[in-house]
Amino acid sequence: MKTTNIAIDGPAGAGKSSIAREISSELGFIYVDTGALYRTIALYAHRHSIESVEMLIRQLDEIEIELSFIGGTQRISLCGEDVTDDIRTPEISMGASNVSAIPEVRNFLFDLQQKIAREHNVIMDGRDIGTVVLPDADLKIFLTASADERASRRYMELKEKADCPTYEEIRADIIKRDYNDSHRAIAPLRQAEDAVLVDTTDMGFHEVCEEILSLIRDRLELDD
Ligand code: C5P
Repeated sequence: MKTTNIAIDGPAGAGKSSIAREISSELGFIYVDTGALYRTIALYAHRHSIESVEMLIRQLDEIEIELSFIGGTQRISLCGEDVTDDIRTPEISMGASNVSAIPEVRNFLFDLQQKIAREHNVIMDGRDIGTVVLPDADLKIFLTASADERASRRYMELKEKADCPTYEEIRADIIKRDYNDSHRAIAPLRQAEDAVLVDTTDMGFHEVCEEILSLIRDRLELDD
């Protein structure tokens, strides 16, 4: 049976994951956060003090990554250990952006992403889902917002945490990652030609969810 695949791409902090999570639970789809895959490779490199691209490529076969979906929530394990929470640090965010520019890393993760989409109805978010991983997705959304708005949302999310970076640090990190992600030679971040652009700068969370749900319902000819 053919599965339904929705691709959501966009820059760091555009709200892809919270929106995709909400919408997928509404539709009963699996939400696949592909950024977690790149983060997990970065965590492996960090833990093994891998500093050269060649060494990381040589060790790719040692990296066992498994995704599981518990009550619709994605968990990720690295060589049998659940690392879902360990991959959410600013250092690993930047590490993910670095390893994601390596073609061998992208190839290594490509089959896994396509397999999940073949087997399940998914909302998959990332940077190259509509352009490379799921070029035939039923609907492609490119979700964005201004860098100031994305930084301030991220800051609001993190500010209660003990080691919260400053707003300026978060903004600089977002801008650097956007630059890296859109200027790499392979699978750069860009809007697919057939993707619908949703700019959320002046929109609230529920408004964005409603807009995307309505795009999905129209495309799939579902009732409200
Ligand atoms: O989405 P998230 O911020 O967790 O992604 C971390 C990094 O992983 C991104 O900055 C990007 O470099 C990389 N990534 C990618 N392709 C994807 C998903 C994430 O290159 N499909």
